[in-house]
Amino acid sequence: MARTPTLHLGLDLGGTNVKWTIAEHDGTTWRTRDRGQEPTAAAGGPATIVPQLAALAARVSAEAGGARSLGLTIPGLYLPDAGEVLFLPNVPGDWRGVPVAAPIAAAAGLPTALINDARAFGLAELRLGAGRGAETVVGIVLGTGVGGVVCVNGRVHTGFRGTGGELGHQTIDPDGPWCGCGNRGCVEAYARADQLAAACGAATPEEAHARALAGDARALAGYAEVGRYLGIGVANACVTLTPEKVIVGGGIAAAGDLILEPIRAEIRRRVRVTDAERIAVVPAELGPWAGAIGAAIHGAEQAPGALPS
Ligand SMILES: [Zn+2]
Repeated sequence: MARTPTLHLGLDLGGTNVKWTIAEHDGTTWRTRDRGQEPTAAAGGPATIVPQLAALAARVSAEAGGARSLGLTIPGLYLPDAGEVLFLPNVPGDWRGVPVAAPIAAAAGLPTALINDARAFGLAELRLGAGRGAETVVGIVLGTGVGGVVCVNGRVHTGFRGTGGELGHQTIDPDGPWCGCGNRGCVEAYARADQLAAACGAATPEEAHARALAGDARALAGYAEVGRYLGIGVANACVTLTPEKVIVGGGIAAAGDLILEPIRAEIRRRVRVTDAERIAVVPAELGPWAGAIGAAIHGAEQAPGALPS
């Protein structure tokens, strides 16, 4: 039964912008009520960014009329229980051991939980996006890197220290190129944005997309090649998990079937232990706000009593 909605704040920390959203839950359904963004105060690293997040959380919660919980995406590694960051590859500053959850919780007066940005994407798509109603979902986020998320029994599998589901760091070639994670031959080493652009003979992913749409043969071949590597990684996940849906998000997913079709082809080619035709490979629905929405949902689900009972 629908009740008076409760409000939940989500913050999505990126190297360029901090996005926020107010999501509401009425006992049955999640909706987003408001959202915004501001440039990340990156100049001082954690010394300026953590106070920025704290002030933003306090202001947005007050303006909304009082949120009950707060979630924050971490684009890297962190300690969920301690609320500390370990490593952020794409945000300036030395983040090793920096407490984040506690100072923000104190400033905003809200219970605060951290979640990896790709896991937040998956949680948002699972609750109110392309994964609605599904129990088992695999998600990939195609951007600067290749993020991943695994949902089982209708829940995001966060794993030890929140690192569960890093599908972009599966080894698909034991002697392949080095990856930013320190391993070689990862899916990400072949399929991150700069590699896609290079495979298409373009300077940027946007240029690669434009060339492919114009029928440029090298760009089309580049998408097919990168999609094949992604498809191998996704097929491995399909064999392991038998998902109902594979959700593809991130900026590069705007290429639609240019990138989705080679993934589907690789699943048909390699997944032999279940009915590969029943695995739907679909684009994400929530766009660049999925991280903030997923953070809001995670914060609510982690805070006792925050959701309508
Ligand atoms: Zn890797």
